[in-house]
Amino acid sequence: MEIIVVGAGVSGLTTGIRLLEEGWSVKIMTEDVSPNTVSDVAAAWWYPFLVEPVDKTNKWASETFDELLRLKNVEGVECITMRKGREYLDEICEPPRWSLELPHFRILDQEEIVKKYKFGWEMEAPVIEMNSYMPWLLSKFKELGGTLELQKFNSIKDVSGNLIVNCSGLGAREFCSDDKVIPVRGQVIYIEQDPGFGRFDQQPETLTYTIPRRDFTVLGGTAQKGDWDETIRDSDTEYILSKCEALWPELDRKKIKGVAVGLRPSRNELRLEKESIGEKIVIHNYGHGGAGVTLSWGCADEVVKLVKINM
Ligand SMILES: Cc1cc2nc3c(=O)[nH]c(=O)nc-3n(C[C@H](O)[C@H](O)[C@H](O)COP(=O)(O)OP(=O)(O)OC[C@H]3O[C@@H](n4cnc5c(N)ncnc54)[C@H](O)[C@@H]3O)c2cc1C
Repeated sequence: MEIIVVGAGVSGLTTGIRLLEEGWSVKIMTEDVSPNTVSDVAAAWWYPFLVEPVDKTNKWASETFDELLRLKNVEGVECITMRKGREYLDEICEPPRWSLELPHFRILDQEEIVKKYKFGWEMEAPVIEMNSYMPWLLSKFKELGGTLELQKFNSIKDVSGNLIVNCSGLGAREFCSDDKVIPVRGQVIYIEQDPGFGRFDQQPETLTYTIPRRDFTVLGGTAQKGDWDETIRDSDTEYILSKCEALWPELDRKKIKGVAVGLRPSRNELRLEKESIGEKIVIHNYGHGGAGVTLSWGCADEVVKLVKINM
């Protein structure tokens, strides 16, 4: 039986690869492919940001961390690098549970903390260069025998096939009538300057990051809930730069190379479950918020488990 995966963002491609590795025949059907998906805009730092429920997402994030490291170290995927980053916080708090799984995580000394903050930690995590990683995922999917067809569906009922994996991201609002999925708009800036280590304020209200890649550093960010505007706003560019300069005073505006916008597919809880619709079995895998890359391999493995139970 052929499994139809709807969507070719990081979720659809990763899930497609895992299903092919299990020996199933897989076709991706999708409205758009890279570079025209939200996944292409991801910054992308491994970090479980804006996603629930944490008891599940912590596990999937940790599994993805291990797989990204394996891809880098064993398969030699060059667009995954390990970088250090420091997160600054307003209050002293318990570190998140996922930090227990990281090979490098330490609380910062007082003199390492940027002045306006009270607390912070340093971690090392994968940075994924999506401009290379998305084409790499697509070619891996094809190498394994996967096929891809461009098609937009108005409804899940229009998909032929009895086993469908729904990786439609924000498109799930229309595709399976789920108005719990909402956009959280993010704008980023690309700058040809390396900050040495990443700097982060991960509170959605004050969100700030400088994520060093080999080509550019990605500066962010914004997390504008319910905002559908995909155009670049100069006011946001200025707002992001002023926040980043507070954490990284050496930032040189002359080295800016570009700006991009994406709409995170946010949901009160990521939806990864089976649903029966008439004769069809649908496995949903969408609503990854600000962590679709961070959760990609863990979620794909979970889809495989659900497919096995339901075949
Ligand atoms: C500015 C920004 C920074 C980010 N930074 C990070 C980060 O550092 N780390 C991280 O882990 N995540 C980050 N994210 C979040 C991450 O980008 C998303 O969680 C992830 O891309 C979601 O992937 P997806 O495959 O589920 O959805 P998408 O990439 O949106 O893919 C959905 C796919 O479904 C297709 N589709 C939709 N509807 C239909 C339909 N009706 N018919 C056919 N096809 C359809 C689309 O064409 C597309 O191919 C960031 C996001 C933004 C915007």
